[in-house]
Amino acid sequence: MIEPIEAFIKEKESAHWKQLQEFLRIPSISAVAEHKPDMIRCAEWAAAALKQAGLEHVEILATEGHPVVYGDWLHAPGQPTVLVYGHYDVQPAEPLELWDTPPFEPLIRDNKIFGRGATDDKGQLLLHVKAVEAFLQTAGHLPINIKFCIEGEEEIASLHLPPFVEHHREKLKADVITLSDTQMYAPNKPALMYGLRGLAGVEVTVDGANSDLHSGLYGGGVQNPIHALTALLSSLHDADGRVAVHGFYDSVLDLSVQEREAFTLVEPDPNKVMSGLNLQALYGEKGYTYLERTTARPTLEITSISGGFQGEGIKPIIPNQASAKIACRLVAAQVPDEIMNVIETHLQKHAPVGVKVHMSRLLKGNPFITPIDHPVMVAAAAAYEDVYGNAPVYLRSGGSIPIVEVLGRVLDAPVVMLGFGLPGENLHAPNEHFHLDNWGKGISTISRYWLKLNNTN
Ligand SMILES: [Zn+2]
Repeated sequence: MIEPIEAFIKEKESAHWKQLQEFLRIPSISAVAEHKPDMIRCAEWAAAALKQAGLEHVEILATEGHPVVYGDWLHAPGQPTVLVYGHYDVQPAEPLELWDTPPFEPLIRDNKIFGRGATDDKGQLLLHVKAVEAFLQTAGHLPINIKFCIEGEEEIASLHLPPFVEHHREKLKADVITLSDTQMYAPNKPALMYGLRGLAGVEVTVDGANSDLHSGLYGGGVQNPIHALTALLSSLHDADGRVAVHGFYDSVLDLSVQEREAFTLVEPDPNKVMSGLNLQALYGEKGYTYLERTTARPTLEITSISGGFQGEGIKPIIPNQASAKIACRLVAAQVPDEIMNVIETHLQKHAPVGVKVHMSRLLKGNPFITPIDHPVMVAAAAAYEDVYGNAPVYLRSGGSIPIVEVLGRVLDAPVVMLGFGLPGENLHAPNEHFHLDNWGKGISTISRYWLKLNNTN
């Protein structure tokens, strides 16, 4: 079944690239109000592209912000349903003078297509649309059921997508969510991003007397809130770099042997990291590598601290208040609220005598993981290997892509991040581009992935 599809992809290549250029010509900058008409035009363009590929029930659905484009093809009874997520909005193009060619006048040179959105995400999104077209034009049907959810606010933090997904839970229901908005590890070295860290942010305030006190009159006789705060903050870690908060690690999923082995293939050289940062040593939780510490282990970082007189010279006082902000990066299956609870308990329990300690909750985001031995990940890995001749490397990100976690959680389905971008394609920067070598290979990989998800194959 794959041969006619791959022949079709090859034959249509230049027509596809022309279409991608049309898509890239629309300045769909979600952050800038004056581009609102372009956002509508771009959603209409994406809807037309879905229809042309043979998708049905194509609609442009309103949100409080920019609209979402939906389409489906559901004629594979008994087969899994794939929800493709992507976004038609792009980052602003400034600074314009750093572009070699204008950002919204896409141009092909050196087998790369240049233009804002080429890799993030119009180019990568269109690969899935073209895979649908290839199946329907050759075989007349798809090996799986498919739905598309294309949003216009990814570059402004997917502001209105979480309520949209909640509201359209039934419509978007799927067995697996797939997106192409990440990067490969290197040319011909695919990567599956399978874990993202979550976030919990709090502020701790230590209150002393009812006003700043003269340190000559009161010094030595009362607790100093800054001393109390620093002692409290010091109690949050042990000497081995582990977080010393009782219960902090309770729900952390340990790295499997398979994961740790996979990590050795992509572990950065510590000397390079140190020289890049101009540091004499790296530091972190004992028993874990640098990569594990920064992507697969939870952290607790004090991100700011304040208290006392900050002006010129010295003011000899005992300040009446001191505070600090703390940001934790969480890993599956830690729950932000539970982590904030154990931190609050720790802070109260270790509160030094003579001060009042108060904690407030600032922000939270859930961690995300699709285990690398999940059948959908195995299918994706095999498809990559078929096309690129190399098994993918497995990566976790130390940061978060909140919408990935929201889609996975609300729709209760695994998420596969099938990236075809390459490092150095300047996403969010001048001269953004996409390597056209990954055009045909990308569509082939997606097609083979769907064939592998088909449960009769
Ligand atoms: Zn993107």
